[in-house]
Amino acid sequence: MQTSVNAQFHQARSATPTPIFTRQTILNNPGFGKHYSDHMVAIDWDVSQGWHDHRAIPYAPLTLDPASLVLHYAQAVFEGLKAYQHPDGSIWTFRPELNAQRFINSAERLGLPELPQDLFVQSLKELVQLDKEWVPNTPESSLYFRPFMIANETFLGVRGADKVAYYVIGSPAGPYFASGVSPVPIWVSTQRTRAAKGGTGYAKCAGNYAGSLAPLNEARRNGCPQVLFLDAEHGQYLEELGGMNIFVVLKNGTLVTPALSDSILPGVTRASVIALARASGHDVQERLVSLNEVRDGLASGQVTEIFACGTAALIFPINALKSDQFNYRLDAQAAGPITLSLRKQLIDIQYGLVPDTNKWMVRLA
Ligand SMILES: *Cc1c(COP(=O)(O)O)cnc(C)c1O
Repeated sequence: MQTSVNAQFHQARSATPTPIFTRQTILNNPGFGKHYSDHMVAIDWDVSQGWHDHRAIPYAPLTLDPASLVLHYAQAVFEGLKAYQHPDGSIWTFRPELNAQRFINSAERLGLPELPQDLFVQSLKELVQLDKEWVPNTPESSLYFRPFMIANETFLGVRGADKVAYYVIGSPAGPYFASGVSPVPIWVSTQRTRAAKGGTGYAKCAGNYAGSLAPLNEARRNGCPQVLFLDAEHGQYLEELGGMNIFVVLKNGTLVTPALSDSILPGVTRASVIALARASGHDVQERLVSLNEVRDGLASGQVTEIFACGTAALIFPINALKSDQFNYRLDAQAAGPITLSLRKQLIDIQYGLVPDTNKWMVRLA
């Protein structure tokens, strides 16, 4: 295996960076995924050379041959994590080694090569070195990193690619809940599933998202911003949302979340919520959770809070599970206390407002 500790990156600064005034206007109200920083990282790989041509270069469109494998057979994986500015101006990210390992696992499932963990983390540092000014310093804002790997070999035959490329782009992100953290109903996809046993559900791959978009459109037509998928075999057990894991809080303070399987994405936020909840004395159960259990728990008052979690929204409070056949509601107008407490604990750690006793933060600049 190649070692890549401190790989040498070729650095080329943009000759036409975004004017400061324009950048400030963007950073004051970045939204999500709409704007991009001035640079990007690129590394090539092929069977004979391995990873090579490491570079941090001006953000620019890619040139892809129309016969590139990725465009036809969806050989693409990605990650999502954030850079946070701390009060002293230093820039940090959250548990990047977990994203790096997941990227390796996703790549393996899709027949893509392994990008070493330390090279993954270094690639984030290389981007921040050039685009530090793109990390917002306003509350709950961040620079969202989107590392991704695609098969860019020109070939229409069917097999794993002999030539791929890795990129990292950065996109400033504002607070997910601009007008307060309030709970919303989510849509349960009763007919269509996201992942099955033996499939790619645990991999963060482009194709999983493609398959979740028609159900997401259905959710939106029904007034729900997100969709919850059930297990493919029985259509009974909660799995996760299109891009977030789910937790149910019981009256006695116990947290319940679907146990990981090969059809559930192992979220970094999920793992961190479990650790924080256990550290503050909650029992956390990772097990099968049926829709009927949640229905009955909502009816009896045993289920007191429901939330989803992921890097983009962090903690996402839920007050109803709906479909065209049912509407299981939580009698709560506001997010619950355990949901809000976990959210605050995570934010305080990520933004450097409390000591990082778990050593979860990694400094980028
Ligand atoms: C990325 C993702 C999550 C959340 O993972 P985090 O590491 O917490 O951001 C959950 N489910 C799916 C399907 C995802 O793609």
